[in-house]
Amino acid sequence: MLIREACCAAFYCQRCGQIHVHEIPYFSDARKTVLRCDTCGHEQAVLERLNGGRISVELDCVVCGENNRFVFSLKRLHSVQLEKIYCRKDHFELGYIGCRKKIEELLSFNQAEFEALHPSDGKNFIEKQRVLLGVLNRVDEMASTGCISCSCGHSDISAELHGHYIVLSCANCGSCYTLRAEKASDLAHIGRYIELLVPGMAGDR
Ligand SMILES: [Zn+2]
Ligand SMILES: [Zn+2]
Ligand SMILES: [Zn+2]
Repeated sequence: MLIREACCAAFYCQRCGQIHVHEIPYFSDARKTVLRCDTCGHEQAVLERLNGGRISVELDCVVCGENNRFVFSLKRLHSVQLEKIYCRKDHFELGYIGCRKKIEELLSFNQAEFEALHPSDGKNFIEKQRVLLGVLNRVDEMASTGCISCSCGHSDISAELHGHYIVLSCANCGSCYTLRAEKASDLAHIGRYIELLVPGMAGDR
């Protein structure tokens, strides 16, 4: 028998939110392999062969900006059925690692696989994660092009994830703005410009 892959992995693209199955090679000439999103080409993960039959997997988390590095033994990877990979800092789910069949079942919305991994979120998890990443990236892009500001005159705005909501808050006056990031329509409803309103400045007069 020829072992071609140690296992497979599927990571949510931190740019476009899509998820695709990639092989993690058992034998490889190159020490470093970059996995890219099949949809947008964004660099998703960097795999590096280490001594002693181990491999490191580096993944960025768009929620906290942290780069996560996981080290696995290839032997163990070969026997993994299906496991969640999440950001160490904020537990944001980054993807899955395991055998191809199990991952493909999960991605084709197999209910049993979902319930095992996501007892409360179930079948909609992948779609929700895709929307969440889409909204996060949209907010990030808007912030960097000056399209998010506060009516107090400042544009030093931070974003925080609370479940399926993204809360924007002004570093100067503390005003907040909540964006829902759960359904595809939430992404479509974001305008070109977001203005945080200081309570009492508008409306009350
Ligand atoms: Zn992508
Ligand atoms: Zn994170
Ligand atoms: Zn403000």
